[in-house]
Amino acid sequence: MKAYMQAPDGTIIQTADPSLWSDSWTLLPNKKGAKAFRAYHIARLRETIKPEDKIYCLLRHRSRSGMVCDIAVKHTGPDGLSDITFSTSAALGWSMQNNGVRVNGCGMDMGFHLVYTLSRVLFPKGFGCIGEKCPSNDHSNGDRDHPPHSDERPHWHNDGGYALRHSWL
Ligand SMILES: [Zn+2]
Repeated sequence: MKAYMQAPDGTIIQTADPSLWSDSWTLLPNKKGAKAFRAYHIARLRETIKPEDKIYCLLRHRSRSGMVCDIAVKHTGPDGLSDITFSTSAALGWSMQNNGVRVNGCGMDMGFHLVYTLSRVLFPKGFGCIGEKCPSNDHSNGDRDHPPHSDERPHWHNDGGYALRHSWL
């Protein structure tokens, strides 16, 4: 059973042994802790990931049935390529297996499914049109309009799932 602990600076971690941490850390009740842990990682990812960013997927393991796979996740930010596998698993509430996020599904591109779900979690209210290269599916569904979203000219896409692009490594 893992416990959730919070540091004075707001960092929230999951640990198998709360006694290893100093007295300045607070043990959170389980349900509240799980929620706070997820919210903490969503907020962390939101700091670096912007709409139109590309998320890279790396297949770590695929079950023989093909119904389950474990995918490592990377993002290129200002400091270069960073591994966001753990934060992604925490933000989605999906488990980590074989150094990847465990993804369940069949008959679909699991990398797309993972990034689409992450994108919806990070941009639950959708996102403003980016312009010419906007990844929103509204454009493939007939929205030929590409001027970027601005205060003077609102152009909002409601499905946040398409804010991020995905690519296999
Ligand atoms: Zn757009």
